[in-house]
Amino acid sequence: MLATMVVLNLVLAAQAPVDLAAGTWGSAVAMPGQRSHGYLPVPGGEGDVPPLPVTVIRGAKPGPVVAVVAGVHGAEYVPILTLQRLAGRLTPEAMRGTVVLVHIANVPAFQKRTVYYGPSDWKNLNRVFPGAATGSPTERIAHVLTQEVFARADAVMDVHAGDGNEALFPYVTYFGHAPDPKVAERSRAMALAFGAPLVKPLWPDFSTPPTYSTATAVARGVPAIDVEWGGEARFPPADITRTEAGLLRVLQQLGVLAGAAPAPGKPRFVTGSESVMSPVHGLFTLDVKPGQRVKAGARLGEIRDAFGRTLAVPVAPFDGMVIYAVSTPPVSPGEPLVSLGQVADKAPTRPPEKLPRAPAVMLNHLYVVLPQDAFEALRSLDFLSRDFARVDTGLPDFKAPEASAQALYVRGQDTYVELLGPGNTFKEPVGKVGVGLSVEQEGGLSRLVTPMRMALGGAPGQERTTWTFEGKGKVPWYDVLYRKSSTPDADLSLWVSEYVPGFFQALYPDRAWDAHDVGRRAFLGPLFQPERLLRNVERVSLELSPERTATFIRELVALGYQQSAPPGDVFVLQGGGVQWHVREAARPRGLLEVGFSLTRVKNGPLVYEPGPGAKLEFSKDRPEARWVTGLP
Ligand SMILES: [Zn+2]
Repeated sequence: MLATMVVLNLVLAAQAPVDLAAGTWGSAVAMPGQRSHGYLPVPGGEGDVPPLPVTVIRGAKPGPVVAVVAGVHGAEYVPILTLQRLAGRLTPEAMRGTVVLVHIANVPAFQKRTVYYGPSDWKNLNRVFPGAATGSPTERIAHVLTQEVFARADAVMDVHAGDGNEALFPYVTYFGHAPDPKVAERSRAMALAFGAPLVKPLWPDFSTPPTYSTATAVARGVPAIDVEWGGEARFPPADITRTEAGLLRVLQQLGVLAGAAPAPGKPRFVTGSESVMSPVHGLFTLDVKPGQRVKAGARLGEIRDAFGRTLAVPVAPFDGMVIYAVSTPPVSPGEPLVSLGQVADKAPTRPPEKLPRAPAVMLNHLYVVLPQDAFEALRSLDFLSRDFARVDTGLPDFKAPEASAQALYVRGQDTYVELLGPGNTFKEPVGKVGVGLSVEQEGGLSRLVTPMRMALGGAPGQERTTWTFEGKGKVPWYDVLYRKSSTPDADLSLWVSEYVPGFFQALYPDRAWDAHDVGRRAFLGPLFQPERLLRNVERVSLELSPERTATFIRELVALGYQQSAPPGDVFVLQGGGVQWHVREAARPRGLLEVGFSLTRVKNGPLVYEPGPGAKLEFSKDRPEARWVTGLP
């Protein structure tokens, strides 16, 4: 007996000591050939973050450490349920190396059923990597994953689905490039082994620290893929089975599981993609399905307000395939509605070309027709043309206004205001407002036809406006798109224009001109007087009829403006260097107020009262002013 024990001790001593730490993640401790469940704590910081449930499955033989993470987004249930199943399916005796399953990375989001964001700090876990040890709860989770999971892994799989509000076509991502090219190549091999029908290479900018989970792993030299399968808070058994089968194939490919890595199937590859964002708060109905092919300009859905009025009709920016889409009503400005991909049979070898963007649509000028007394009061306010801005009577000579003038052009650097009297030559009625927008990018106007058609429910009118110069005849001035309507716009006209650069050559024959410059400064540059106060119009407050409020919002949204305050009696839109405040009224007053940016803070008097109810008021400490029109 004694002899036997001595022999046994000698045998044990001859073996390499078991490295317990190598099988330890939090309270999960696995010896070779063992499986262990436990919790990985999230220490530090304010607020209590529950520990992450982990399973460590340690193969009998040494091999790579593979981390598989689910629940970075707490309402993505297919990944979470797949890992639950995988934890029981993997047999340590048959494995090489170690598999670490992080079952629910974002426990707070899972418990509180939030999509995208953690419930206590409203941060997206997959946008805050590498996290911070003393940061907010979501940042601390990212820190634990980075330091204790990714840093100890030889490969990472971050398993997602469409979030609780998203329908999704299954795909796997890999890194088309990486600081270490071998890491990119290995992530690609993992992605192909998974066997998803769609594979999307990612080309992140590694010159700054990435904020996504897998890019963070790759930046640290660990090959990684994202898996996306399932969505809409559902968990059909078929999705779980397919996800599990894919993960098992990658584990084969990595040598953790026996068996030859399967030959890659014939996936399609995403060669370029773009998310169409919501411009407004509202209720979205989706018209397309994941996997569906759509043509450029195709309607993707419709966003309505709480009362059912259409706010926006998003369209496909290019021919492509719907990868994922928001399939439940709530949408907010700046959040994705539909992710559209360009798809090919061959893997791209280079990052995609930048997809063409819709041109920025800027405020060009604003006109308003004032009652005679209000117009006369402004015309005779010396301060206006002496100190406030250059004021003239327009083309072609930009003369100073005489007593009989019925039009005053108040010029800023990029924008101007056109004040019209009741006897204006355009025969516009008192109270009428005009909003002239323009593109700064040559050829940009043509790209707005489809969005305007979708927003207005009919093709916009298109025209070219000319100016007749003495001795030169008619010269093209600008092209314009406008809403065609059976009833004329009684209270507000809106149009978008693009200058014809040759016009500036005719207008300013002594100045150098650029045949491609359609910008506002090509027109206003020679007129702007920087020593005066006005720089630009930066805010416009309007009161319109209910019908015109609805179409005005739709037009601005179609032109790229975004709602910038929660829904309420005043609809606030931001874009093109200007903020719009729009409210509806049965008897609308039109233009209520214009806010200006100034070249400097004004000294001296801060309030002028030109005419009945009107007020020109200056901030005492900011280069800002506002004109309250006082219109009845
Ligand atoms: Zn996700």
